[in-house]
Amino acid sequence: MKISIVGGGPAGLYFAAYLKKFKPDYDITVFEAQHESMNAYGLGYTLQKLDTILLERLDSDFYQHLFCEKATPIITQALFKTNFQSRTLPFSEGFSVARHDLIRYLKDTAITKGVKFINRKILPEELPRLKVDFDLVIAADGISSIARKLFKKELQVKEHKAKLKFSWFTNKTSQERTEACFYAFNSEEGVTLLTSYPLTKHKQVVVIEMTDKCLNSGELKGKTPTQAIPYLNKLLSENEDEIDLLPENLPWYTFKMNTAEKLYSDNLVLIGDAAYSFHYSAGQGVTTSFSMAYTLAQCILKNTDLAFALSHYNHSVRLLLAEPAKKSLRDMHWFENIDQHFKDTDKHEWLDIFLQKDEYLNSNTSTTSKCHTRICR
Ligand SMILES: Cc1cc2nc3c(=O)[nH]c(=O)nc-3n(C[C@H](O)[C@H](O)[C@H](O)COP(=O)(O)OP(=O)(O)OC[C@H]3O[C@@H](n4cnc5c(N)ncnc54)[C@H](O)[C@@H]3O)c2cc1C
Repeated sequence: MKISIVGGGPAGLYFAAYLKKFKPDYDITVFEAQHESMNAYGLGYTLQKLDTILLERLDSDFYQHLFCEKATPIITQALFKTNFQSRTLPFSEGFSVARHDLIRYLKDTAITKGVKFINRKILPEELPRLKVDFDLVIAADGISSIARKLFKKELQVKEHKAKLKFSWFTNKTSQERTEACFYAFNSEEGVTLLTSYPLTKHKQVVVIEMTDKCLNSGELKGKTPTQAIPYLNKLLSENEDEIDLLPENLPWYTFKMNTAEKLYSDNLVLIGDAAYSFHYSAGQGVTTSFSMAYTLAQCILKNTDLAFALSHYNHSVRLLLAEPAKKSLRDMHWFENIDQHFKDTDKHEWLDIFLQKDEYLNSNTSTTSKCHTRICR
């Protein structure tokens, strides 16, 4: 079988390497336009248990290749903070990894197994030709997928552009930090959200996000992420912390959540963020990409008829992702309205309402019901 893959991100590379492992005679080519979707993947990931299980299926020594020299901390706790309160909670065990390390590992694994890799951006008008030249075309081209746009009607695509802006930074600390951090700090402009994961014990990858309205007011108005650093450092250091963000010289990005009712059209099939993208707060992105790539490869391995394999894949993935997609959309609406949620709440309850959308609170019924009452007012 002759397969082309548009996009060499986690989804495309995992699929290529995994299928080639079991079908060495398949002719698989990955086309990668470098630097196309910084907004979708940025600097680093936290990989969860399922990711490590799926990586082990690709290469049982993956841990050694991917993590050996890096002393990557195991994350087991998360620190939640607002201007006045903080709370540490258990966090589903995971590892952080820099995007370029994960991609390099997956790419090396795929190339070693015989996958061809071509550095080239595929243009929308080239897609119909690819569909003729290859038995199967995989669209793994991320959140701004050209395939999703071109086949919008057949795939019944839905998109939600968040009224939020985010950018990436790094933070270096003299003290060891191994926890994930989730901060929501209120100011005159609105609420600034910080999400950070430890890349090493002294370096964290940081995402800063806020509503469009917050970014267009007061001290933040008209500022690039780099120009906003002094203001952000001061605000986010308020509650006994030392935030010292380093610039990555990236712009403010807008997140787009998308879903597709159908994941294939003839011999073209979507995987990863091209098919479904979740707000990053869900921590689902790479897990979803690997799961879709794994499921598609399994469907192809188990069905000799390609049309049947794609239908099987479509059915399985839609069943798997319907609920997480709904939850991600709900969470995103919550973040879009976070300024109002904080305004309506006494400052000593900000931490509780910030946490109320979080699953940990399921075990803390008194706080959950209190927050729930507030939010439903
Ligand atoms: C702020 C933020 C934080 C996140 N944090 C996490 C996290 O901690 N954990 C997690 O699991 N997920 C996280 N995610 C989600 C995760 O980044 C994505 O879900 C994941 O990268 C999707 O993988 P993918 O391969 O489908 O797409 P991508 O990673 O977007 O890769 C697509 C690839 O296709 C290439 N491409 C695009 N167009 C073309 C074209 N026309 N021709 C050729 N190549 C093309 C791009 O250059 C890119 O390399 C985060 C996302 C954001 C925005």
